Amino acid sequence: MKKLVLITLLLLLPLFNSAIKAEPLESNITKIEKTQTQGQQVILNTKTHKVHKLTCPSAASCKVNCIKINSTDAYNRGGVPCKKCGG
Ligand SMILES: [Zn+2]
Repeated sequence: MKKLVLITLLLLLPLFNSAIKAEPLESNITKIEKTQTQGQQVILNTKTHKVHKLTCPSAASCKVNCIKINSTDAYNRGGVPCKKCGG
């Protein structure tokens, strides 16, 4: 009888483990979705009000008047999309 109990436990253990692991994974996905809806990071030129993607060459060469900012905030400040990268 003891063997049967042991086998039952061994069979059930992976089920418990996966149930525990599933929860943090789901909350992680929710966090990722939330940051995506808040908008991506862009480079805003505070002088010309041009909005660049982080990968834009113009953003890389702009060092004096450029700040890293949330895209929603950038356009709220009167940002204009860059012609090269589209903002
Ligand atoms: Zn650009």
